[in-house]
Amino acid sequence: MLFTERLYFADPYLRSFSARVVARDVRHGHPAVALDQSAFYPEGGGQPADGGTLNGIGVVDVQADGDLVWHMLAAELPDDTIEGTIDWDRRFDHMQQHLGQHLLSASFEHCYGIPTVSFHLGGTASTIDLATATLDDRQAATVEDVVNAVVWEDRPVLARFVTAEELSSLALRKPPVVNGAVRVVSVPDFDHSACGGTHPRSTGGVGIVHIRRWERRGATIRVEFVCGGRALRDLRWKNAALGRLAATLSCGTGELDVALARLRAAEEAARKGLEVAHERLRGYAARELAAGAARVGGIPVVRQVIEGTVADGRALATALADAGCLAIIGVTGAKTQLVLAATATLGVDCAALLRAALAVSGGRGGGTATLAQGGVDSAASLAQAIDAALAELERWPGRQ
Ligand SMILES: [Zn+2]
Repeated sequence: MLFTERLYFADPYLRSFSARVVARDVRHGHPAVALDQSAFYPEGGGQPADGGTLNGIGVVDVQADGDLVWHMLAAELPDDTIEGTIDWDRRFDHMQQHLGQHLLSASFEHCYGIPTVSFHLGGTASTIDLATATLDDRQAATVEDVVNAVVWEDRPVLARFVTAEELSSLALRKPPVVNGAVRVVSVPDFDHSACGGTHPRSTGGVGIVHIRRWERRGATIRVEFVCGGRALRDLRWKNAALGRLAATLSCGTGELDVALARLRAAEEAARKGLEVAHERLRGYAARELAAGAARVGGIPVVRQVIEGTVADGRALATALADAGCLAIIGVTGAKTQLVLAATATLGVDCAALLRAALAVSGGRGGGTATLAQGGVDSAASLAQAIDAALAELERWPGRQ
């Protein structure tokens, strides 16, 4: 009966080991070997597989299959005896996140009776899903304080296999998913979990546990957290980012809130000032254009093409109408539009003129006798459309 002795059960700090190849295969497109013993952790229980090398050949994945642990390799491994080395930085990072998760889940139980329903150890951050519909800042801070107190007390982490009778006497936070002998990982007076993963030998190895954020996911709350080295890198990155922001705003990091509020207020005031200035500018432009209006069929007409938004076109057309003209404004920009405006006293029908224009250029639109607008199919046909509107004006019944 082939069997792999899992060395990480007894010593999760074992980084290198000697072993014998007991089986060979090709798995997921990679040459794969099973060993008589291995310190490599196979993916499972929310913890990713270890990386590392066997006789210098990269291990790309590790999977358990029955009693064997299979090592998927980057290249063919000809030897039958090997020296294995695990990627310790990766493994210890996983150990920190994994034990941090035990402690965090136990804290949520102890503080608020909230159970954890799932755990995911990700590449940069990890998550637990909590069986609760709500979580607030105060609760998260309390849980964080409790979990870090246990980390700093540096309590031992005990892992042992227990029988079914012993198991029934333990109040397990996380029940076993395997049959037979069950491995229980305990932090005295805090947590007992059925777990086959790797953990630091004492809680101090976790360093620190920090809840980064949380969000509602259906009936659960997903909490994102970082432990140990990841928390340090997170802090380093955030400090640098805050420092850059503060330097940009010429203030201390503690004054960022105030500086940003001031910046937003100044921006809002500038935006409003600009709006007023635009409005006045449009008025001047409209009066200047109205002074040079051509007369078509006895009506003062301003035709003009501007670049901008539909709102810009409408504002100019309305200003020209107020100045006593029929305005025929083409707008080029993200969309090509035609806007016509006139006061009722001129007695023209802007909607009818627009229809005549769009019949020539193609496009859709509509409006009233005093304001009409429509989209022109192409910028190239805009001049044609304006000419068509003017031609229609000349044909206007009752106007000579
Ligand atoms: Zn565990």
